[in-house]
Amino acid sequence: MNDKREIRTRFAPSPTGELHIGGLRTALNDYFLARKNKGKFILRIEDTDQKRLVEGAVERLVQSLKWGGIRIDEGINLDNKNNLIETGDYGPYTQSKRLTIYKKYVQQLLDEDKAYYCFCSSERLDKLRKSQQQAKQPPKYDRCCLDLSKEEIHQKIDAGEKYVVRFKVPEGITTFKDEVFGKISVKNEIIDDQIIMKSDGFPTYHLAVVVDDYLMKISHIFRGVEWLPSTPKHILLYQALGWERKMPKFVHMANILNANKKKLSKREGSVSVEDFRKQGYPAEAIVNFIALLGWNPKTEQEIFSMQELIDQFDISKMNRAGGVFDLKRLDWISMQHIKKMSIDDLYEKALPFLREKDFYKIAPADCKNEAYIKKVLFVEKDRLEKFTQVGEENKFFFTNNIEIDIEDIHWKNSSITETKNSLLQSEKVLENITEDDWTLENIEGKLLAEAGDKRGDLLFPLRAVLTGEKKSPSPFEIAWVLGKEKSIERIQFAITKLK
Ligand code: GLU
Repeated sequence: MNDKREIRTRFAPSPTGELHIGGLRTALNDYFLARKNKGKFILRIEDTDQKRLVEGAVERLVQSLKWGGIRIDEGINLDNKNNLIETGDYGPYTQSKRLTIYKKYVQQLLDEDKAYYCFCSSERLDKLRKSQQQAKQPPKYDRCCLDLSKEEIHQKIDAGEKYVVRFKVPEGITTFKDEVFGKISVKNEIIDDQIIMKSDGFPTYHLAVVVDDYLMKISHIFRGVEWLPSTPKHILLYQALGWERKMPKFVHMANILNANKKKLSKREGSVSVEDFRKQGYPAEAIVNFIALLGWNPKTEQEIFSMQELIDQFDISKMNRAGGVFDLKRLDWISMQHIKKMSIDDLYEKALPFLREKDFYKIAPADCKNEAYIKKVLFVEKDRLEKFTQVGEENKFFFTNNIEIDIEDIHWKNSSITETKNSLLQSEKVLENITEDDWTLENIEGKLLAEAGDKRGDLLFPLRAVLTGEKKSPSPFEIAWVLGKEKSIERIQFAITKLK
């Protein structure tokens, strides 16, 4: 195998639904390796199983990849008007458009006596399978059609009998190296004479994947470990087609596990990338979290940008044991990414989520301008795990009618008069700060100076009347966001209630 060949990786999903997080992990590893080596990341669509296709799935797959920050170099893509397009010299990149290519190689295998026609009915195959099951034998085609004569074959085809083409597994042992799981050897006698061409004229996955990876000059195949048992079949096909020296490297990835260390399944709630996007996780966080379910950076670092993941990616860091899908960890990672965002970036990403909130929809116009929301974000930023949390804990920012329970605004055992005086004192301090000087530092500095060592007496009632809540960020931050006028209004409103 020539190690100097260009690094070309492909993500080859079947368009049967949303991009699953396992799929994103595969695509990311493909992408990291390609980017790191200035190679190409290719998107190929494997739609040979026509019964399982889902309308619009290809578009959504591309959108999910793009959302994750993956740039497609070659193959299927969307243009800026969201139309499906295809670029690159090795197309078509959708398998259903490559049927004549597969037919050519199936014919080659037939001509070289490395494949054969099979006319067995599904009833016969069912019976065979059942009897093998009863005899506790592995299910395997019994080669009933292997020795049909040319005449018999022609007759059957002319008579319109349905047929498939099977690969004739040679005798021997098949050995290959997986980059994660090491050397694997399988006795050919346990490998089934797999179907390579179905009765509808479509190739099976096994044939199509080999032909395409070869013709598209793929250097590395990343895929889930569930494909490891199929790999010997693929190796045999490479050999039969004379492509053995151009074989890609195989990199199988361990399953993603749930908290019980079992394979994560759809039954356990959201596993699609789109679900996580809708829940308000930043793409960077999802990418960081999912990427490290497959490999270990071997350092203390836990928060990675896409570029850092690319720089640090190495197949030798990939794990044989599956990573555990731990939502608490995702939340933590997500929080770190949000902390690192600029306010402008956070605003742009969080606004669509905020707009969906009922409390926001009914909020007065002065709570909806960009500068105001950015202040809210500044205050909330370090506590957010997801964009959907913006404003949730601090709805008092988005209404001018807060409810105050007078019972809740007294500091410890303060009397009504003491609370009232404390509020008057705060009011005076805030009145003395001009609009131009209304900065967080000024508000905090002036109020703290006024409070001296009696912080609770001054700040507790103030915070309570500005928010109407038992818990919230500091009164300085709240007054700063609300602005001078609203802050003083809220204080005065509470004072009237104390009378
Ligand atoms: N179409 C297969 C899938 O969706 C791809 C497997 C492979 O990468 O070879 O899992």
